[in-house]
Amino acid sequence: MSYQSLVLVKQVPDTANISGDVMKPDGTVNRGKLPAIFNPEDKVALELALQLRERFGGSVKVVTMGPPKASELLRECLYLGADEAFLVSDRKFAGADTLATSYVLAETINSIGPFDVIFAGRQAIDGDTAQVGPQTAEKLGIPQVTYTQEIIDAKKDTLTIKRKIDGGYEIIKAKTPLLITVIKDAAVPRPFKAKRVMAYKNAKTLMELEAMAEENSLLWSDQLKDEYVAKKLFIETLTIDDLNVEVERCGLHGSPTKVHKVESVVLGSSDHVQIEPTKEGLGILVDKLMEDHIFG
Ligand SMILES: Cc1cc2nc3c(=O)[nH]c(=O)nc-3n(C[C@H](O)[C@H](O)[C@H](O)COP(=O)(O)OP(=O)(O)OC[C@H]3O[C@@H](n4cnc5c(N)ncnc54)[C@H](O)[C@@H]3O)c2cc1C
Repeated sequence: MSYQSLVLVKQVPDTANISGDVMKPDGTVNRGKLPAIFNPEDKVALELALQLRERFGGSVKVVTMGPPKASELLRECLYLGADEAFLVSDRKFAGADTLATSYVLAETINSIGPFDVIFAGRQAIDGDTAQVGPQTAEKLGIPQVTYTQEIIDAKKDTLTIKRKIDGGYEIIKAKTPLLITVIKDAAVPRPFKAKRVMAYKNAKTLMELEAMAEENSLLWSDQLKDEYVAKKLFIETLTIDDLNVEVERCGLHGSPTKVHKVESVVLGSSDHVQIEPTKEGLGILVDKLMEDHIFG
């Protein structure tokens, strides 16, 4: 049996490489200046989906809900080996918390599916909630396996999965369709293949084709779209009008959780104590840590 897979991917601010001018004078982070990157665990999830296709056949599609510039992330997915990419983008989806995000993703899956296996990263490095995968599975009414470390085997509609747990792992058998969330050490993402980069670097969304047509009066976006669809270089964009969703459950309106403020914790230099690398120094350190109830 071959497997039709979908990978949920997210573009996130590169919060791991904060330096130079993204730091504001008050020591906080200017998130808008952070470069946007491929959420690390989503890249591993895509790698696991590509490996499942190589082992058992089938297809790998990817979807992201985000602003128009998230098309960059989808091109990266095509470079890595995805067969098709979808951008879910609409102003009415902006400001979504995990509830609203998973609602729109679940409806997107209902509209572009069905799929046997839906892959998600365990967590996004910006919101850090690890909620979207499980919430999406709930809304689809399908089983979920979180903290996936390995897909050991796949027979007909049953996957055997190794799942990380505290102090070890467990082996689970789960029936498709199912959603799995993937941890970072489940696989090493493959590098881009130059041939695929050359093939897909011109893949475009409708908005990008319209921008091309605006710059060149000889081009018509409709004609361009037909051309790109024929060349399998068209990245389909799904707006609120393309999905069976209630607007009041989308975006900021549909989000009971509002991110009030994002603040970086900045440790003041007065907080540090110089410890000599000696036996006595170590004694002082242990006493200090016990005094501060950090251990003991
Ligand atoms: C600092 C900060 C704190 C936040 N705190 C909360 C909070 O406490 N509660 C809350 O509800 N929202 C919160 N949000 C908003 C939340 O980030 C967004 O709702 C976001 O779209 C999804 O949540 P997440 O980033 O935690 O993703 P996670 O739930 O950690 O993502 C898990 C996986 O779901 C998939 N996924 C997530 N988002 C998308 C997407 N847009 N498109 C495709 N796949 C996706 C990816 O595979 C990802 O690896 C916060 C945002 C920020 C920046």
